[in-house]
Amino acid sequence: TKYILVCGGVISGIGKGVIASSTGLLLKTAGLKVTAIKIDPYMNIDAGTMAPTEHGEVYVLNDGGEADLDLGNYERYLDVTLSRDNNITTGKIYSHVIEKERRGDYLGKTVQVIPHLTNAVQDWIERVAAVPVDETGEKPDVCIIEIRRLRPSASMTDPRGHIESPRWNARQNAYDSLYLLVTPHPQLGGTVGDIESAPFIEAMRQFQFRVGHDNMALIYVSLIPVVAGEQKTKPTQAGVRDLRGLGLLPDLIACRCDNPLLRATMDKISMFCHVKPEQVMGVHNVSSTYHVPLLMRDQGLIQFLNKRLNLGEIDVGPRGV
Ligand code: ADP
Repeated sequence: TKYILVCGGVISGIGKGVIASSTGLLLKTAGLKVTAIKIDPYMNIDAGTMAPTEHGEVYVLNDGGEADLDLGNYERYLDVTLSRDNNITTGKIYSHVIEKERRGDYLGKTVQVIPHLTNAVQDWIERVAAVPVDETGEKPDVCIIEIRRLRPSASMTDPRGHIESPRWNARQNAYDSLYLLVTPHPQLGGTVGDIESAPFIEAMRQFQFRVGHDNMALIYVSLIPVVAGEQKTKPTQAGVRDLRGLGLLPDLIACRCDNPLLRATMDKISMFCHVKPEQVMGVHNVSSTYHVPLLMRDQGLIQFLNKRLNLGEIDVGPRGV
């Protein structure tokens, strides 16, 4: 199985879910079987007990699993049927590990976040990625893993912040103003902090070695705000730097922006984020999110992933219009 991890920084609601689903759809049209896993780093077992004002609409899966609407996106875009196991939450993974501990599975060892919880995440992903999700009953070729934003931090919702370094504060202030600019209710915006997503990010860092470089690619979704008429790349630079610091290297940087991404902006991201220009992809606002796959196809996404992951003989379709 090939894995494509989609994670995002800067803020939530920038279209990470849509980009993840669109990537899956393009791979499906290329003739591959695609499944998806969504990671939500909250302590709830699932979204069923959360108020809609807190979580947004809940999507109910065939097996009764109550999950994020992103699972619904996957089912619609990929024409698959997912189960509750396709949604991993902190609550689920901890309760799984604790159950194992009570059974004595750890043979007297001290059970820790690393390696026991991070291993449990990886085992879970490998197990669920192999489960057939369509009527053919065959094992999927590709699994899209979407993880809820990893760089929100307490100080974004709580401007008092606890970390005192001036550089950090400057960056946080930039984030704060950006964040407040985009959402009037920062406390509601799916703000899962660094601490919350850390075990999952660490699990994915280890996962690269478990499955090998040829079998896992990473798409980082970022926001390009326009300030004084200029497309700004700073939040993307900071986000990518943080990501690298966690041991995850972006293969593609998907840039959500109001208007088409300018060549100069792409070059700047390439230069400052240490990626090739073909690793930068623009995803501007479109009238329907169903246009996003076309936007990504026209920028050669399938060719890129085919080369990166050795997907073999697939139908890469036309490029460019
Ligand atoms: P995230 O997963 O980052 O929280 P979503 O994928 O759920 O974000 O998208 C957030 C909202 O933005 C959705 O309502 C979606 O329809 C919309 N959206 C995403 N991408 C685009 C785009 N390229 N153009 C217009 N609307 C978009």
